Amino acid sequence: MAQGIPSDLLMNATLINDLAVVAKDAALLQGVLMRVKESPNSSEVVTYAPFTLFPTPVPKAPFLQAMAVQTHYNTLVDKISQDPDFLQAALASTIAVDDFTARLFKIHQQVLKEGRLQSIVLGLNRSDYMLDQKEDGHTSLKQIEINTFAASFGGLSSRMPDVHRHILRVAGRLEESQRIIDNNPAVGLAKAVAKAWELYGSKQAVVMFLVEENQRNALDQRFIENELWKRNIATIRKRFEDVAESGNLDQDKRLFVDSQEVAVVYFRNGYMPQNYESEKAWEARLMMECSLAVKCPDISTHLAGTKKVQQVLAKPGVLEHFFPDQPQIVAQVRATFAGLYTLDMGAEGDKTVAMALATPNRFVLKPQREGGGNNIYGQEICEVLGKVKDSAERTAFILMDKIQPVPTQNYLLRRGTPLQISNCLSELGFFGTYVRHGKDMVMNDCVGHLLRTKSSEHLDGGVAAGVAVLDNPLLF
Ligand code: ADP
Ligand code: MG
Ligand code: MG
Repeated sequence: MAQGIPSDLLMNATLINDLAVVAKDAALLQGVLMRVKESPNSSEVVTYAPFTLFPTPVPKAPFLQAMAVQTHYNTLVDKISQDPDFLQAALASTIAVDDFTARLFKIHQQVLKEGRLQSIVLGLNRSDYMLDQKEDGHTSLKQIEINTFAASFGGLSSRMPDVHRHILRVAGRLEESQRIIDNNPAVGLAKAVAKAWELYGSKQAVVMFLVEENQRNALDQRFIENELWKRNIATIRKRFEDVAESGNLDQDKRLFVDSQEVAVVYFRNGYMPQNYESEKAWEARLMMECSLAVKCPDISTHLAGTKKVQQVLAKPGVLEHFFPDQPQIVAQVRATFAGLYTLDMGAEGDKTVAMALATPNRFVLKPQREGGGNNIYGQEICEVLGKVKDSAERTAFILMDKIQPVPTQNYLLRRGTPLQISNCLSELGFFGTYVRHGKDMVMNDCVGHLLRTKSSEHLDGGVAAGVAVLDNPLLF
């Protein structure tokens, strides 16, 4: 029982109903909030962000393993971003068929041609994992992906420990309540942004959050904004459209938006094709990339986070290229890789196609997209791959082993959804931050975690996509 929530508690309908009421109020009181679908750009009416009634047991060893490897992932992402030849070679087949990645790559090339002005680099990423169940009953940590762009929920997850502690106390589970560990990515993320702002060196300059049209998750970002304000760093929230209308560069390429100098652009929008509603949005992106402002992420770090790059990293010798003479780091990073397979034209790609078509349930087919809901599973792999298998179009995708985590039982609390027990799968993410100034890494940290849990009926995930919900690990 040391592991989790006993089944007599899970099955006690009266108690569960009472606890759900307590839980929702606890979330509201802690600020685990989201705006509602009906009015995403107003805080007149808000609701609790979806979350689990109980925390989910997570073994300590893989948790610590993921925490320990995070700074190496930070270094890796940063090294990739500084290696234009690698990016070009890794993404060549993808950009030939994927318009969105091609467009990003074009910006990358334009920036390289003009020469990178800004030597301050700010990285805020989140490496996500699932615990793969092995035949011997052990689990092993496998990376799902790394998000180098707009990795979210660092704010809301900072308030989740106290929500579950309270629920467990009310449920009479004091021992478990004390096992919920602290977590505060918001502070850590803000610390890195503040460092980049400080290095930029202009007291009156602001941090600009580049935000979505639909700002349902604005309150998650507010936690980071408020941590910056506590340090007397001003933040503004602007959309691509605002930057297109009121943004400009001065003769030194300093970025001004609404006449305010911008020290750091923190992109929380711009990772999906539909985020660029017009050519003006693309022009605004290019202007920001060419400016002296610190970009989080800059265009090359954005590209370093693509799924194609993830697949290329898994090829023999590639990690060694980035960590020469550091076999321990190579081994530590590689241990977290799941099987990843190329769909490039040629014999190796043909082998991947044959394997996927023969046993589709063992794999996930991934396009170069972010934000949840884009991957292809099971029989649909046969349909989609069947159509493109003989053409270069297949190179828009990569193939990955499907990770099979041990399911747990829990209740997912979401506005307007009836309370029912669900079979759940969890995904554990770690937030990494780094700041580089020229050749000096002045900061490289792991600043917290995010546990997201979804009903196992859903193959894909994502809290913002409406599938996964916020959770806490209960370490054992
Ligand atoms: P996105 O950038 O859209 O978040 P992900 O690679 O994280 O793309 O995939 C979305 C979701 O699909 C994940 O949160 C996870 O639930 C599921 N998923 C992705 N890859 C795998 C995998 N290899 N095995 C099992 N589930 C996966
Ligand atoms: Mg993901
Ligand atoms: Mg992603």
